[in-house]
Amino acid sequence: LHYLMWFRLDLRVHDNTALAAICERANEDNAQLSAVFFLTPEQWQTHDMSLTQLDHIARTLPILAEKLNRLNIILTVQICPSFTDCIATLSALCEENNISCVMANHEYEGNEIARDEQLTKQLLETDIEFIRWHDQCILPPQSITTNDDSMYQVFTPFYKKWRHTLEVSDIQIHTAPGITNNEKVHLTSSEISANTTQDIEALCNKTVHDYQQYLQTHKSYQHIDTDKQISQARTAYPAGEAEACHRLEHFIADDINNYDVSRDVPSLHATSQLSAYLTIGAISPRLCYLQATKALGELHRNDGDNFDSSDSSDNNDINRWISELAWRDFYRHVLDYKPELIRHQAYKHETDKKINWSYDEDAFAAWCEGKTGVPLVDAAMRCLNTTGFMHNRLRMVTAMFLTKDLLIDWRLGERYFMQQLIDGDFASNNGGWQWSASTGTDSAPYFRIMNPFSQAKTHDFDGIFIKTWLPELKPIPSSILHSEDKMRKALNKNDTFANIDYPVPIVEHKLARQLAIAEFKKE
Ligand code: FAD
Repeated sequence: LHYLMWFRLDLRVHDNTALAAICERANEDNAQLSAVFFLTPEQWQTHDMSLTQLDHIARTLPILAEKLNRLNIILTVQICPSFTDCIATLSALCEENNISCVMANHEYEGNEIARDEQLTKQLLETDIEFIRWHDQCILPPQSITTNDDSMYQVFTPFYKKWRHTLEVSDIQIHTAPGITNNEKVHLTSSEISANTTQDIEALCNKTVHDYQQYLQTHKSYQHIDTDKQISQARTAYPAGEAEACHRLEHFIADDINNYDVSRDVPSLHATSQLSAYLTIGAISPRLCYLQATKALGELHRNDGDNFDSSDSSDNNDINRWISELAWRDFYRHVLDYKPELIRHQAYKHETDKKINWSYDEDAFAAWCEGKTGVPLVDAAMRCLNTTGFMHNRLRMVTAMFLTKDLLIDWRLGERYFMQQLIDGDFASNNGGWQWSASTGTDSAPYFRIMNPFSQAKTHDFDGIFIKTWLPELKPIPSSILHSEDKMRKALNKNDTFANIDYPVPIVEHKLARQLAIAEFKKE
């Protein structure tokens, strides 16, 4: 007997539901076990995967191969340009290697679902089992529903039920046992596949290089120094599950303590910075949840109080962080409930008919390049373009500026974020964009429009973040940076700061706000 573990965006050994299950079954049945991962560059182009994310995957795969080796399992990495190629290649691999069972973890996006459904049918014809496990969420889609069995439209009641369900369930971490009887077969050997850590590294490097070449011809990358972006992301996000787990431990032991307040200050780097790892599955979301609740439990033991972890007054910092993990689950549940979201439809359908979105190319380019004349927006966009990451508060500010101040279609911004973010993830990104554009589930009310100057005053009071990314603004005091009127005046040709090479705001916030509200209000 021979079984196959198909890795997708679940690039870890610890608490990998499918891996643990197939290892157990292989040991029980005395079967051989192989593992495979497909590099799908054409598919990634279609999905707007960022270079930094592909590079992160490429750096993670050799580490995964090493870890699997220690469990006596060989990982084959193979280039399969599209999902259609994956289906054909996987079927052929099964046939050539007499594989009778394939396991993988569920993916919830449209093309991924279609691929898996087609493969299930194809494998069934030759009596090969294809078993998928829920693994990406802490609690799987459809497990948290209202009393009449439908999906929650609003986050808070979802969160209450999610939290309660977790408290009464016994969440387990699945450890994959090593395979006892494995001949370590090489599934295939060809120019487009690799089995040794060294060959995997070489194949991955080549794939990243080719993808970078492709992106350099792409309009969205014309203003990006891709070498710099990759190098920044490599420094900020060393690859591998050990690194991710270490980051989690460090965050829980230390930085979580002031999370509820400092999470909103971009210059502090006070959030976990785990999203890049969660997105490619280098860390388990259940492990994150369990470590956080363990810390809550320890606090309780130290306090000796009656402990109720659902009581948000108990520890605002840890509870707030757990609620962010719940947002991640929430948006995946929403996507599973409304699969049409993947086809660029607004959650609130009526907004697609009603809002006369702008497609102004110059304004969009100014936003992408960080040249809008609004310091916090520009600093955030330049940070994204240079590092592949943007702080959550700034994602909200920049997304709201694009969709409300510029009234540009949220889908353009959503796409641009996917193209740049190291943690680009369809469900969370779509959720965040539709929240900001007031077109989504439980989104910001259309009349509550963030003023990017006041946001800067509240969350970057001393202008530290702004001046890091816009060094040309260093001579300007924050009191001026945080006021649109003062900035316009300061950059005027008669003012002290007139020689600074920085644009005046491309839009007047007060007026833009009124126009956006009118657009949403109209019948
Ligand atoms: P922490 O504050 O430490 O939070 C812990 C984890 O909780 C995160 O790693 C993430 O997995 C999850 N999380 C936190 N906030 C959210 C949220 N609002 N929605 C969903 N999950 C959340 N997150 C992505 O992972 N990928 C995206 O592509 C993405 N796009 C976004 C686009 C917009 C317009 C907005 C407003 C938010 C987006 N987010 C996205 C959510 C959030 O900004 C990031 O998850 C967060 O900034 C990651 O930093 P962290 O790991 O330090 O987060």
